[in-house]
Amino acid sequence: MELEELLYKHFGYQTFKTGQKEVISSLLEGNHTIAMLPTGTGKSLCYQLPGYCLDGQILIISPLLSLMQDQVEQLMKFGEKRVIALNSFLAPDRRSYVLKNLAKFKYIFVSPEMLSLPIILKRLQAITISLFVVDEAHCISQWGYDFRPDYGKLGDYRKKLGNPLTLALTATATKKVREDIIQSLSLEKYTKIESTIDRPNISFCVEEVPNYHDKQSRLIELVLQIQKPGVIYFSSKKIAEQMASLLVEKGIKRAMAYHGGLDQEQRILIQQQFIHGQLDVICATSAFGMGVNKEDIRFIIHYHMPMQIESYLQEIGRAGRDGEASIAILLFSPGDEQLPIQLAESELPTELQIDWLFSHLVHSGIQNDTFLDENQYLREQGGFTEVQWRIIHDFIKNSQGSHNLEQVSNRIKEFVNERLKVKIEGIKFLKKWIKSKSCRRDLIIDYFEEVGRKESLMNCCDICGIDLDSYQAGEREEPNYVNEGIWKDYLANILLNSELSK
Ligand code: ADP
Repeated sequence: MELEELLYKHFGYQTFKTGQKEVISSLLEGNHTIAMLPTGTGKSLCYQLPGYCLDGQILIISPLLSLMQDQVEQLMKFGEKRVIALNSFLAPDRRSYVLKNLAKFKYIFVSPEMLSLPIILKRLQAITISLFVVDEAHCISQWGYDFRPDYGKLGDYRKKLGNPLTLALTATATKKVREDIIQSLSLEKYTKIESTIDRPNISFCVEEVPNYHDKQSRLIELVLQIQKPGVIYFSSKKIAEQMASLLVEKGIKRAMAYHGGLDQEQRILIQQQFIHGQLDVICATSAFGMGVNKEDIRFIIHYHMPMQIESYLQEIGRAGRDGEASIAILLFSPGDEQLPIQLAESELPTELQIDWLFSHLVHSGIQNDTFLDENQYLREQGGFTEVQWRIIHDFIKNSQGSHNLEQVSNRIKEFVNERLKVKIEGIKFLKKWIKSKSCRRDLIIDYFEEVGRKESLMNCCDICGIDLDSYQAGEREEPNYVNEGIWKDYLANILLNSELSK
């Protein structure tokens, strides 16, 4: 059967999106493939469709539980029932059933942490993995903005699973990161499919405002003026909430905040109202976006400076998926770079915390990670965040057998310094980009070392010249006020389905 026929039969789509067919064909010819395709181009289909051509199982390594859940739901929506996510949400009895019956599932999603458990690896070794998929593969590279130590071990697991055919997927990776991915997965021969990072229908606009107060007024002015729907990104939940209330006060009634602090029901409700056009503006933190397949988002505004160009591109990439003109506006006021610097630092344990913890460990003479699990009070006493604790935990776990705790603590400190350096470099690049006097699109394309941009664009960026008027909102229809009633049923359904899929 032709690939197009399979696409239509299983997914109901008539044509492939850019890059999909190339990636799928390359895999079906038996080539390991590394694919860099922009956000929203339908990367998931690159492993979903081969599932219907290859015998055996498709194993997908996915970094986030929420992303995994979205991916599982996406497949189920297409009527595929042989899908399972092996993660910590799986109840013990269900987990034991699933592990005994792995071969019954076609698509197996797993977090890298789960893959490190011997029992899981053993069960996976007993089935035939026809495709090993690394989603968000930039997490493998320590040069990537989102490095996950567990991702670094995927090469080992791949070997233990018999070096299956491999697909590494990412939206944003520099050349250095891509090289790291290939090396880490030990892909000797592979096909590289890279689509441009550029989204020509999204215009870039950076606006510098003299101070924080002016930024607030400018945001309101902009949101009142420009065409909606849109998303405003904030680095703080509290400010996202405050600004959503302020926008409502100023007449933008259909605005809501969305962040990780809301409970799951509220989040689903807001997301669905936005997708279905009952909300115009979402004041969001980075928790918003994954799995939000809304085609007609017309603007993305960044109220706070993002941490790196990669996540900035992921966020603005949610605009204009219908191909229509959309705009990405970044508001900057002097000193704004301090916030991302602070955030980057707070993700990592400080030297003081490391010394404090290791003095405890030396004192008690115990050095395995189980000790840490059993002594959670140390986490509280040392003021470690979850991420900081995970980093320490990981290093101790990986150095079992090394009886020199000082060495372990030094290794953690080296890692922390390296990570911080990478993060600060990312922030510096973004600041340079903000302050630059040359084309913003060209700078991004250069950063990803792409060669040659073809056409010059109308409304490319504020440096090349942009006509903000063309993004003005037209005559608005009478607002269709949010009717929670409609969504109550929908929500009940989703929650029921997610219960059933457990
Ligand atoms: P991402 O590249 O961001 O991971 P997804 O895989 O989540 O994107 O896909 C984004 C959306 O595009 C999904 O709703 C998916 O069903 C849809 N999609 C994927 N392939 C096609 C196609 N060939 N034609 C139309 N829509 C598609």
